Order: sequence, then structure tokens, then C-alpha cells
Amino acid sequence: MFPKTNLYRKRKLYRTPGLCEQQLRCRFSSLPSPPPPGTWSQLHRLPHRDLYRLSVTDPDRFWGSAAVDRLRWMRPFHQVRDCDFSSGKINWFVGGKINVSVNCLDVHAENHPDRVALIWERDEPGTEVKVTYRELLETTCRLANTLKSHEIKKGDRVAIYMPVSPIAVAAMLACARIGAVHTMVFAGFSSEALAAKIQDAQCKAVITCNQGVRGGRLIHLKSTVDAAVRSCTSIQHIFVSQRTEQPVVMGELDVPLDEMMSQHASVCPPEPLDSEDSLFLLYTSGSTGKPKGIVHTQAGYLLYTSMTHQYVFDYRDGDVFGCVADVGWITGHSYVVYGPLCNGATTVLFESTPVYPDPGRYWEMVERLRINQFYSTPTALRLLLKYDDCWVKKYDRSSLRTLGSVGEPINHEAWHWFHSVVGEGRCPLVDTWWQTETGGICIAPHPLEEGAPIIPAMAMRPFFGIQPVLMGEKGETLTGDSVSGALCISQPWPGMARSIYGDHQRFIDAYFKVYHGYYFTGDGAHRSEDGYYQITGRMDDVINVSGHRLGTAEIEDALDEHPAVPETAVIGIPHDIKGEVPFAFVVLKEDVGDDPTAILQHLRGLVANKITKYAVPEHFLVVKRLPKTRSGKIMRRILRKVVLETTNDLGDVSTLDDPSVVKEIVETYDLKK
Ligand code: ATP
Ligand code: MG
Repeated sequence: MFPKTNLYRKRKLYRTPGLCEQQLRCRFSSLPSPPPPGTWSQLHRLPHRDLYRLSVTDPDRFWGSAAVDRLRWMRPFHQVRDCDFSSGKINWFVGGKINVSVNCLDVHAENHPDRVALIWERDEPGTEVKVTYRELLETTCRLANTLKSHEIKKGDRVAIYMPVSPIAVAAMLACARIGAVHTMVFAGFSSEALAAKIQDAQCKAVITCNQGVRGGRLIHLKSTVDAAVRSCTSIQHIFVSQRTEQPVVMGELDVPLDEMMSQHASVCPPEPLDSEDSLFLLYTSGSTGKPKGIVHTQAGYLLYTSMTHQYVFDYRDGDVFGCVADVGWITGHSYVVYGPLCNGATTVLFESTPVYPDPGRYWEMVERLRINQFYSTPTALRLLLKYDDCWVKKYDRSSLRTLGSVGEPINHEAWHWFHSVVGEGRCPLVDTWWQTETGGICIAPHPLEEGAPIIPAMAMRPFFGIQPVLMGEKGETLTGDSVSGALCISQPWPGMARSIYGDHQRFIDAYFKVYHGYYFTGDGAHRSEDGYYQITGRMDDVINVSGHRLGTAEIEDALDEHPAVPETAVIGIPHDIKGEVPFAFVVLKEDVGDDPTAILQHLRGLVANKITKYAVPEHFLVVKRLPKTRSGKIMRRILRKVVLETTNDLGDVSTLDDPSVVKEIVETYDLKK
């Protein structure tokens, strides 16, 4: 069992005014019985707690009515779901025919053609480009016709290796229009990483740009693609768009994309696709091992992302939605592209970095574009809070209504900085827990009843249709509150992954075998005494000190509170007597001097006070940087290898951001040994 530690103590609650404490208790077990039948337009007016109740007690009615009312179908579905976790069978909206691009474009181009669909926030501040729904539909159709004229057809896999840009979004939607399956590869990955993904997915084509521009630097994308495809026999075409003026030498496989598109019609009939045809493949971040090629399909994914986008972020018609993720990650797929566009939103495409040209970039952009929702990551927030608050305060953030965080556990210091400095204490901040595999947000403070609390740094409430279950060490279901265990989900939801590309058995083994009949997330969670969920980190990152199980995220959270410590990573290392002991890697602010002894002593005290004595790291190593994935997540498995002195076998490091970090940390470790 996990000990009940301070992390789970009742914290200061942030609430909207209105209801008394008794009314606020959000224990789904004590909710009233489901409401009478109705269509989605009637149901959605119900209080959230009734909607949640309906979503888990009668998923067919809940999701069925939402799918009918919220999506445009080419042929109606005849069965809401046909799922069986034990065999990894997940089918939603069986028999339905749909086209995702129609729902993201045509529907809105008909209703409000001149509404801005995309604001491309280019690398240089103040040079943004706006693209309306009508324009995006036309560009998408031209691109779709170009693909078709090169014999790309339904079911073919197409790799997209492009920076965040309207043409990248059009490429995704063009694939969706003709039924091709896109696989986005973050345009910062090496040629080897790109090649591995192209080979795994057996892609027929790559869509890329000549160059990318990020943080004032040029990135030579086309040459990376050339190097990658040398080992990829499946590739027949390389479509090259021009992001910059720089010409590229065109080879045999290369197709000048912009030129070809101008020759093709701006109308392309959408392919009627089965609800369960693949929409895209996307590789996981590779934090814990080799990335998995996750398969998502059409209708269920679209419905789930559009609903989570609306409800979790309190999206309202006409809002400008600012998710600063790269389109190469699942967050970019679900909350830059598919969810917002399905809802007819104006979505921001952020091409730059949080510190270019200075650490005020995000907030200057918020002021200039009048952004209503701002969705970022703990790693970016930890970076920004190192700088003076004046970088935030000099810009007008009054347009902001909701703030969001995703990707890793958010530490308290970052949460409070984001909430009070950026959001001036008036914007709800939602810590959203989800995975590439879940398709969309599964646990987040929103939606909530008016006046219900948001607890800092806690994901809290399951979204509609999500039934979290915690499992104990012997595989037993943990009932009641104030318990911690492995986080599973007991029933299917429309946005969940359908398979691992080319290896359905691995899909079953990884997600449905560990706890038979349940989807296993790989993460741990605590259910508080109020029935809220706190993600405690990855199960791999749970350490056992003298029989006490500790989530390393909890120790990091305590360490990060020190003002001189922007970031830490804690791992468990073997110990003869205690079994395991915590080992902390600590990054210090640059201006704290050479002798960290006093700070480390203070850190020991912080952990002892905030958690308990046995959680105090036995070893500390001050490092300049931590190893991270290209999406900014700490790769603790690399740190374990450093301490175990097995860095000659690092495992899959294709998603490691900067391999030189490993050498740097090994050298620091060797010096201190
Ligand atoms: P891989 O599966 O290849 O090891 P990954 O798990 O990092 O990589 P993603 O799908 O990008 O790949 O990330 C999902 C994981 O990120 C979750 O399982 C969880 O560990 C972590 N995560 C995401 N959001 C949160 C959050 N709000 N709080 C805590 N952890 C989070
Ligand atoms: Mg994962």
C-alpha cells in the first residue's frame, strides 16, 4: 500500500462562488439516478454530475445521442459500441460512415466561412497569419487532390514531418479527407528516428518542408527526410512545401507541393469512411521505452476530442484557443487540430519556443491574439518561472479564461505561479491527465458544478464516460477513498486507442492483460478522501524504501519548492538494507554560487517536513540539465542507467532531446563518486 502522506492532505481549495461545502462534494457514488431519455441537445443542459452519471451507467445513450447531434454523418451508425477489453476489441458507432475533415471544415465553412480557423503564430512575433475556414477547406482539398493524383488512397500511410503551420494541418486533414492514415513525426526528430517510424508504418509518402524556423534558427528538414528515406523502401513520393525562400534540389521522388496544389481543384469530395477506419498513427513519447505506434480511428476519436475540448477548457463559440503544443504530439492532434476545429474554434498554431525572442513570448502573444484558453506543459512553466515575473506582468492577460497543463505531474510551485502570476488568480487552472493512448483528456478538474473546488496540482475528476479504478499490489480492486494504486479504467470510451500498429497482441498485452478486463494506464494514482484523483507518476517510478512505497513525483514536488531549484528528477536505486533509496538529480538556478551544501541541506529538510524522513534522498547530484524527451518529459530511465553504470546500453533513445546530456551527467556523476 502507498502511505498516506502530505501530498494528499487537504489543500487550499480554489472555488467559484456559490455553493456550500456539502453541495460541493462530488462523490459520484451518491449521485441521483439517471435523467429521462432525450437527445443530446436536451441532455447537455443537465447538471454535470447527472451527465457523468448517465455517461457511465448508460454509455450507449450518452455517447449515442452526443454522436448523433454533434457530428455530421454520411450514414448513421446502428450500434453505439461493440467492445471487449479482454480481446482488445474496441468499436464505436458501428456501421456509421463519416469523414472527419467534413466535420472539421465543411460544416463550419458552410455556417461561418470567414471565421478564422487558424492563427499561425510564426516564429517572429507580430507576423501571424490568419486562415479562415473557407481558406483551410480549399487548401485541404487542393492538397487532397495532389495526394490522390499521386495514387495515395484510402488506408495508405503518409508520414508528415513538418513544423507547426497551416500546411501541416491541411496535410493532416487532406489525409483524413481521402482516408489515408497520417503519422506525424515531430519535425525535430533525427533522420534515424524518422526512418524507424516510416519503416514501422510502411509509409507510402512523406510530406515535409524545405526548412523549419524555430527560435530564430533554421532547421533543414528536407535533408533530414532525404537521409531517412534512404533506408525506407516503402516511400514513393516526398512532397515538399516551401516554408522559407531557400530552394531545395529536387530528387527523383520529390514533388513540389505548393506548385502542384495550385494546379489542382479546390474541391475534393470527401471519402465516406467507416467509423472504425484508421484516422492516424502516432508514436508515444518514448519516456519509458521504445515508442509505440498507437492507432486512432475516426468518429469516436473526433467526438471525444471535441467534447473534452469544450468541457474541460470551457470553450465557448468564438473563443481563441491557444494550445502551444507541437502538432507532432498527441496534444497537438487533439487540442490544436481535431477537437478545436470540430467545434469551429479559432485555434492558435505556435511555431516558436517559450523563450524566443525573450521569456515574455507567450504572454505577449496572449495579449496580441486575445487568447481565451492557454494550454501548456509543466516543463515550459518550470522554465519560465525562473525569470522575473515582470516578463508576464507587462502584458495584458485579461482575455484569458482557462489555463491548462499536461504531460507530466505539475509541481505545486509551477501550478501556483501559473495560477496566480499568469492567471492573476482569476482563471481556473486545469491539470489534465491523459495519454497518447487515451486520445483525449480523461481526468481533469473540469467539468464541474458551479462553485465546486479545484485543488492545486490535482487532476481530480474523471471526464464523462471515464471510470477510474485503482488496483492494489495483488491485483485486487481498491475500494473506498484514501487509497493509492495502479490506475486503470474499467469501461471503454470513444477516444481510446484501437491498437498498436502492426502488433495487436502487444496492444492486448500492454494494456488489457496486466489487470484482466481493465485498461491499464501504466500510471499510479491516489483517490483522496473526497473521491478526487491525484496522479502519483508512472508505476515504474514508484520506489520501495523499507517497505514504504513512494511516488518519485511526490519527492520532486517537495524539492522543486525550493526557490533555487527549478527542476529535479528522483529515481530509486538498490540498497542492501532498505531495498531502495531515493537518488535526487537537482538542477540549480544559475546565480546560486558554487557551493550547494546549504541548499542540499535545506532540500533534505523540505522533504522530511513535507513528506516524511524516509523519503529524504540518500544521494544528491547537482546537474546542469536533465535528460528529456523532445516533448520535454524527464527520462528517468536514463538516470537509472547512469547510476547503475549501464549507459553503454541506454535502450531506445530515439526520442531523447539532446544526447550530449547523458555524457554531461555521467561525467558529473563520475566526479562525485
Ligand atoms: P511512453 O509511453 O513511450 O513511455 P509517454 O508515456 O511519455 O511515453 P505520452 O502518451 O506522451 O507518452 O504521455 C502520457 C503520460 O504522460 C501519462 O501516462 C503520464 O505518465 C504522463 N502525464 C500526462 N499528463 C499528466 C498529468 N496531468 N499528470 C501526471 N502525469 C501526466
Ligand atoms: Mg506512456
